[in-house]
Amino acid sequence: MKATHDAWVGLGANLNDPRQQLLRAFEALEALPTTRLVARSPLYLSEPVSDIPQDDYINAVARLKTALEPLHLLDALQDIEQKHGRQRIAGVVNGPRTLDLDLLLYDDRIMDTSRLTLPHPRMTARRFVLQPMADIDPRQRIPGAGTVGALLANAPELRLQRLD
Ligand code: ATP
Ligand code: CA
Ligand code: CA
Repeated sequence: MKATHDAWVGLGANLNDPRQQLLRAFEALEALPTTRLVARSPLYLSEPVSDIPQDDYINAVARLKTALEPLHLLDALQDIEQKHGRQRIAGVVNGPRTLDLDLLLYDDRIMDTSRLTLPHPRMTARRFVLQPMADIDPRQRIPGAGTVGALLANAPELRLQRLD
């Protein structure tokens, strides 16, 4: 298998047994073609960052080695979201969801197209992304932003509880 790229995926869920959603999502990531799941973070319980009242989230990150190109990987992530019953409601941002899979980093790739922005533009200020990444590797660099550990030290406060 020619799986040479390093990709980080952020996982989040707050509906329909969110812990189970994430555990199943890790399995689905592992089952992607030409892809290996090389690390998974602990699960975290985090307060929603939204104006819409909703349950707390379960968040985690996964690190993949993959031969899928970025847009194919995004297709695959959205396919997994759909299989988990994700419904996007027109006009509602940051609403509750069964499963959200964000492509955080893909090697040191920088891109900005209508479907895909890399690195994920909001990851640098999100403790629920940076903390689980730091559990895997705090020295990981985010192009244009610095290391995960340094960003975490400066990230806005957020209620975050490690679950396992
Ligand atoms: P946020 O992006 O702030 O975490 P969200 O995850 O709720 O919000 P979605 O509704 O899941 O947002 O995604 C909206 C669109 O973002 C998707 O249709 C996708 O094409 C686009 N997108 C752009 N860059 C990325 C990325 N790095 N990872 C995932 N989706 C992305
Ligand atoms: Ca997201
Ligand atoms: Ca998303």
